[in-house]
Amino acid sequence: MEQPSLKQIWQAILGEAELTMSKANFTTWFKSSFIHNYEDETLTIGVPNGFTRAWFENKFSKEISQIFHKITGNKPKEIKYIIKLKPQENQASQSFLESGPVEKSESSEKIATETKKEKPIDSAYNQACLSAGLNPRYNFDSFIVGKHNELAHAACWAAVRKPGETYNPLFIYGGVGLGKTHLLQAIGHELIKAGKKVLYVTSEKFTNDYVEAVYHGQANSFKSLYRNVDLLLVDDIQFMAGKDGTQQEFFHTFDQLHRANKQIVITSDRPPRSMKAVEARLITRFEWGMVADISQPDLETRIAILNTKCQQKQFSLDREILEYIATNINNNVRELEGALNRIMGFCQFHNQEPSLMIVQQVLKDFFASIQANNLSTPQKIIEAVANFYNINVSDLLGSSRKRELVGPRQIAMYLLRIKVNASFPSIGQEMGGRDHTTAMHACTKIEKDLISDNKLKQDIDQISQSITSTY
Ligand code: ADP
Ligand code: MG
Repeated sequence: MEQPSLKQIWQAILGEAELTMSKANFTTWFKSSFIHNYEDETLTIGVPNGFTRAWFENKFSKEISQIFHKITGNKPKEIKYIIKLKPQENQASQSFLESGPVEKSESSEKIATETKKEKPIDSAYNQACLSAGLNPRYNFDSFIVGKHNELAHAACWAAVRKPGETYNPLFIYGGVGLGKTHLLQAIGHELIKAGKKVLYVTSEKFTNDYVEAVYHGQANSFKSLYRNVDLLLVDDIQFMAGKDGTQQEFFHTFDQLHRANKQIVITSDRPPRSMKAVEARLITRFEWGMVADISQPDLETRIAILNTKCQQKQFSLDREILEYIATNINNNVRELEGALNRIMGFCQFHNQEPSLMIVQQVLKDFFASIQANNLSTPQKIIEAVANFYNINVSDLLGSSRKRELVGPRQIAMYLLRIKVNASFPSIGQEMGGRDHTTAMHACTKIEKDLISDNKLKQDIDQISQSITSTY
């Protein structure tokens, strides 16, 4: 068999890595990375920036080494990282055996776009995207619109056309892997093109930056960074729950930007009203502008998404194969992409045309792992409830009769009953050794309350969704 090229090896590593990743952003940086060379048992990987290098070093060196070994039979003694933009396709597709250092050329300063047809993006724009924290792939062109996301998509375009005017803030919510980050960043791309100052952060990064700034006595530079932008994109705001200091700072950032008619766009896994441990004044503000949801794509849209992704990757799959994948993966676009990467990696590596049989074979484990992931277990249910109400699992299972614990505790017992069909004694057991009559009482109570309490129903729906959509 022909030696695989460095690019093919990297493709296979990506395919594997995709399965273990939870953050879209990380996918980004992984994808703008590449194998620079392999010499003297040293594997050198090109990464776009120091941030990505730190991620690789801390989280993925071991995995990369293992997968590289599996594919090539060579075990790298060392993995090094250099900061370098991804070279053009022709340079990256050197044979593995011929690989020498890739010459730095003018074109290597530009990021290779995913398809050869696309023009390389100019580097000033590219630099602006990187410093704004944007993934080059997450733009409107690569975003497919279906019924499940058309409202959110339209609202995002409205924010692009009249930033700070039409919908401010714009609040987008929905489950994991449904395209929130992609849409959020697409707004960023458009406004960078319009010459605006854009900043994308996850709420965790905002929190970390804030804590660091305070710690180092640099609160002012933090403020000037976050309060002097035209567009602030805050991803996964739910992680700000319970962080009072950060929320307070965010409140002031928000107000200052809002007063200056600067656009703010926020994403979350749930609507503002369902957010727990978030200040009421923030929740009120989240609802000032527009709240739009993204739901799960229907079968046709899933096929369309797969089809477009194939075209982008210049990879072709028969309709019957697309249908097969889209039927088996029904609640998460990231998983659709993961499946596709796996098939591509396999076919390129073995130099085979994809057939339905091959695809079924390749995806067998993948489906099994998705299923296992989506399966509710008592542990997952308990964690999801604790997470949703922002309380500790030990408090949820403990004996305190505080109101803010009793309600969630009953909900957890109810969910154990309906999701895993647990018996009352075993529910009692799971819930910190309670009596079976307590479990029975909880389930009856929640069932009764559900008839008239819409808010409760919404909460329970959200929790159920989070159980099946976490990684
Ligand atoms: P979320 O932030 O909601 O968890 P992401 O925005 O990270 O989801 O999306 C997960 C993956 O699925 C990304 O690679 C993204 O590009 C892709 N994706 C999601 N929705 C779409 C869509 N409508 N069109 C194209 N790609 C999509
Ligand atoms: Mg996201």
